[in-house]
Amino acid sequence: MKLLENKVAVVTGASRGIGEAIALKFAEQGANVAFTYLSSDEKAKALEAKLTAMGVKAKAYKSNAAIYEETETLIADVLKEFGKIDICVNNAGISKDNLLLRMSPDQWDEVMDVNLKSVYNMTKQVIRPMMKAKSGSIINMSSVIGVMGNAGQSSYAASKAGIIGFSKSIAKELGSRNIRCNAVAPGFIETDMTSYLKDGEAANGYISQIPLNRFGTTEDIANVCLFLASDLSSYVTGQTLNACGGLCI
Ligand code: NAP
Repeated sequence: MKLLENKVAVVTGASRGIGEAIALKFAEQGANVAFTYLSSDEKAKALEAKLTAMGVKAKAYKSNAAIYEETETLIADVLKEFGKIDICVNNAGISKDNLLLRMSPDQWDEVMDVNLKSVYNMTKQVIRPMMKAKSGSIINMSSVIGVMGNAGQSSYAASKAGIIGFSKSIAKELGSRNIRCNAVAPGFIETDMTSYLKDGEAANGYISQIPLNRFGTTEDIANVCLFLASDLSSYVTGQTLNACGGLCI
């Protein structure tokens, strides 16, 4: 028996990186997957085809998670097409790193909108059908930077710390409806977002701070999300799972 047989999952920001790995992992475990992206049309199309070839229902949506009305339209369509939503992974995120002295209000707002407001937008849409079904798992992608802070990343850290507080609150608000809400805090994971960290001496400097002595893979994070999405974590809510190779012990 597959862990997510007949479940419907929505994953934001799945055309690349961690989101793509989550969509593939969930499909491998039997879930039908609706996923979003912003601009990578070809990659999204390719992923949709790959998921469908795995024998599940899949659909790519070009939908900006930072815009409330777009998430409203998205979730209405997913419910029409897929019939229900069991799992929502709020993964879409960006970084616009800068020292605070040089950070413009626009840079700050963009990170907050894509990383934090998006989580409000999506969660607000999915809880209604989940409440009706009396079940659901919401997984919000935070970061170890939200747990530890980092110079030059104040907007990113604030948005990711905000996700942790939001997730705890939703866990308390909706636990009695059997809706679980958890956050995942990845460390350095090999994706486009961290490609600038990978080379030369800087990479060795980062790796020396990680007890497991390597950057994480997207599959490392997808496996954590699989645990939180499935009934294996049926008594886990309001938690932040640090998947960082021990970086933030
Ligand atoms: P990535 O490789 O840069 O991919 C970002 C994904 O999000 C893409 O699919 C992108 O779509 C989508 N996206 C961006 N803005 C969007 C928006 N407004 N609406 C909908 N989709 C949007 O990023 P990643 O490294 O996989 O990171 C995924 C998540 O994990 C982010 O929340 C990130 O903060 C978090 N995280 C990453 C790391 C890491 O080391 N990589 C560590 C901790 C936390 P397009 O392809 O169309 O642009």
